Amino acid sequence: MRTISATGLDHHVLGIGINAQPDSETRVDLPGPREQRDRVRAAIINSSWLWPDGAVRLERDHADGELGSSADLALAIAVLIATGQAVAWPELADTLILGELGPDGSVRACRGVYPAVKAAKAAGLSRVIVPDENIAEAQLVSGIGIVGAGPSLHWVNSWLASATAADDVDDAGEPDPIGLLLVTADAETGDVTVESLGAGPVPGSPPSDRTDGIGVGRISVSTADLAEIPAHVLRAISLAAAGGHHMILTHEAPAGFAGDVAALLVGLLPPLSATVREEVMDLWSLAGALEPNLSAVIDGDSEMVAVLPNLLLDRLYGQPDHPARPGYMPLAHHGVLHLYDTAAIQGFALDVVAQTMSRRSVMAMSHSPYGRYPAEFQLLATTAACPKSHTPCTCRPEARVLHTQHIHDKLGAHAAINIAATEPAASFDPEAVPTAEKVATARIRAARRWGASQGAAYTNHTVPADMLRSVSDEGFAYGIHNDLAGLAAAGVLSDRHVELVQRLMWTIADYDGITAPGDVQLTQALALHLHTPKPH
Ligand SMILES: [Zn+2]
Repeated sequence: MRTISATGLDHHVLGIGINAQPDSETRVDLPGPREQRDRVRAAIINSSWLWPDGAVRLERDHADGELGSSADLALAIAVLIATGQAVAWPELADTLILGELGPDGSVRACRGVYPAVKAAKAAGLSRVIVPDENIAEAQLVSGIGIVGAGPSLHWVNSWLASATAADDVDDAGEPDPIGLLLVTADAETGDVTVESLGAGPVPGSPPSDRTDGIGVGRISVSTADLAEIPAHVLRAISLAAAGGHHMILTHEAPAGFAGDVAALLVGLLPPLSATVREEVMDLWSLAGALEPNLSAVIDGDSEMVAVLPNLLLDRLYGQPDHPARPGYMPLAHHGVLHLYDTAAIQGFALDVVAQTMSRRSVMAMSHSPYGRYPAEFQLLATTAACPKSHTPCTCRPEARVLHTQHIHDKLGAHAAINIAATEPAASFDPEAVPTAEKVATARIRAARRWGASQGAAYTNHTVPADMLRSVSDEGFAYGIHNDLAGLAAAGVLSDRHVELVQRLMWTIADYDGITAPGDVQLTQALALHLHTPKPH
């Protein structure tokens, strides 16, 4: 009997050993959390099987990782085998079983199927039994047989009996053909038949609607919407994409404006590398959000995770569950985390965002042993400058400053770009519209300068501060260091802000094809960085 255990993104195939001791005291030991035992017990009893009154102990064959709800089905089958209510199909040793159980014995979709099936393949198993709703997600992993579990625990048990009987007739030593096994039952007689279809498309469930509040992939922005974005904001978006910089934007525009800026930014980001895409798919799978967004993720697009202001902290971080459910920050890994109407987000939530930007990962909210989920996102924090979202704004200047002050207090030390869009776009210049090609060229220039770490090229945002300093010492035009030192001495810039301005100067130079950042890049970087909340 094999299922999965996990710590953060690390998934391990876990063997479940059956230790039935009918003579000892009454006890049924299951290795998972308490509520899992309750689910398994209810599913067995409500499927008209007997819950053992003697001792049955299920034992894990290693201690790594914790069991999630996806282990329900395997544990239930193990209990049934231990009590002689199910047959121990010899091939179970070569089969990973995944599925959550409802109290009525139904098999439910579970989270984390994609990383679990990858782990099964890596462990050399021949097949995986998954809930029918997860078949399409499981099939993202090629070279391993995928079996739909059918609607219920009853169904799986009948299937095991049928497979065992078929093995007895055939040569029991023959391995099953790898590929999809189609399980069908005769509606009249209830007889179950198993057919091997080989690898190929499955009649999986149609993708459901996108999960609330999050979306994946590229969203095109119409020319009419682009024309609403002032030229200096278009420029800031291109630089944010080229350098990977976090960005704060206050604006006077109607609500759709911020969404257009976010869509434009995410559309400029380069496609995810194969390694990163795997991580992103694992995270989305663990959130139960991979399948609804399959097509975009397979294309390797960066995600955009839009966070609405009335968020609860656990949605940002992740929810304590088995396995821990990744929240918006890990889901935005290598994509854009768009805080929409940031002024309405409470200070402690912004603290959590700021902390995560420093650590680039979050704790997987779960029981011990703790894992971590990666969360290297690019922040876009937008907010209306007017506390009452009036157009035109008639608020007192102090009220406007107060409205956005806490954003700058909490996030200002992370955002290289900090601008306001207070004036409507003057005239539309198609030449000013940023392109993914220009962004890619700028990123290549940065990668040539900084190199890479663990297979990922540094951006001007991710390059370590000491490398940034030493290369800038050599690379900046003559006199620029004195100018920066002067700004620091005058109290205009703290050390942290000097660093952010340096990073941004490199991005401006890379984007414009300049080799050594100088006066022009310093002036532009300061204008993009030194936003202070303005009255009208
Ligand atoms: Zn106002």
